[in-house]
Amino acid sequence: MALLSIVLPAYNEEQNIAVATKVLSKLLEENQIPYELVFVNDGSKDNTYQEIEKAAAANPNVKGACFSRNFGKEAAIFAGLELTTGDAVIVMDCDLQHPPETILKMWKLWQDGVEVVEGIKTSRGKESIFHKMSAGLFYKIMSKLIKMDMNASSDFKLLDRKVVNVLLELPERNTFFRALTFWAGFRTESVEYEVQERQFGESKWSFFSLMKYAVANATSFSTFPLQLVTVMGMTLILFSVILAVQTLVKYLMGTAVEGFTTVILLILIVGGFLMLSLGIIGHYIARIYEEVKGRPKYIISKVAGHVEGNVVGAWHKSSGE
Ligand code: UDP
Ligand code: MG
Repeated sequence: MALLSIVLPAYNEEQNIAVATKVLSKLLEENQIPYELVFVNDGSKDNTYQEIEKAAAANPNVKGACFSRNFGKEAAIFAGLELTTGDAVIVMDCDLQHPPETILKMWKLWQDGVEVVEGIKTSRGKESIFHKMSAGLFYKIMSKLIKMDMNASSDFKLLDRKVVNVLLELPERNTFFRALTFWAGFRTESVEYEVQERQFGESKWSFFSLMKYAVANATSFSTFPLQLVTVMGMTLILFSVILAVQTLVKYLMGTAVEGFTTVILLILIVGGFLMLSLGIIGHYIARIYEEVKGRPKYIISKVAGHVEGNVVGAWHKSSGE
């Protein structure tokens, strides 16, 4: 019978590990779905990893890995995918904000031959207005830039083994899991779910970290900001032709004495555009630099439960075998 793997990234979630393990194992055992839970401790500052070890010792279907430091949720998701052995893999938050019952719907769809099941949020749950607004803005910009409707999408997904292998083969370091499954294609269906309230701990996203995430993902998925530089240049050239004609005419008519305001404005506008353009280009160069260095996405310092291959200290399963 097919095995279902569930990847759960965890950062400072000590209170959630035991609850998540209990709820998920109960649900899956009741529905007779063979499963494994893969926790990835993303450099937590609390006892998250000890909790994972405890869960792994008590339940043979639980395994986990510990990062050497905080590498971010994207890295944790990919490390989790790397450790899974299932025929279908679900990625979900370990704070149980993604309702576990939805797993059954996803599993059903997968059994019917669907290769990617996207979790779609019907509501954003209880979040502060500020958080809602910044998240709203974030998805608006993202959807425009990568030309996919990201508004309600989330990291809660089921992927067939084929899709997981495709994602794991990607050489890039700056990944954006949420959009990569759209990019990969395959037979996709979606299920709606309602975001639950967080029981323990707090959300790790601040306005600043969301913005950073937005910029990083926008530039990793789109070259539109670079084209924007060209558009800005075009606009300025058009503007300068008009001004040049006006200036020359004035000069020839012998009235070209004043014009400091124009000069000051031009210097400010051109200077602003130039620096902005350089910034955008610089950002892409920084991305290229990071990719070219080829550093691993994450470093695993130890593992709990039954993990195949030598993944500790190595970032790719095959490199350790
Ligand atoms: N997470 C992680 N690394 C991080 C931040 C978050 O692995 O650096 C995990 C976290 O433990 C949780 C999931 O990502 O399982 C979602 O995080 P959170 O609940 O803070 O985000 P929200 O639900 O508020 O969007
Ligand atoms: Mg959450």
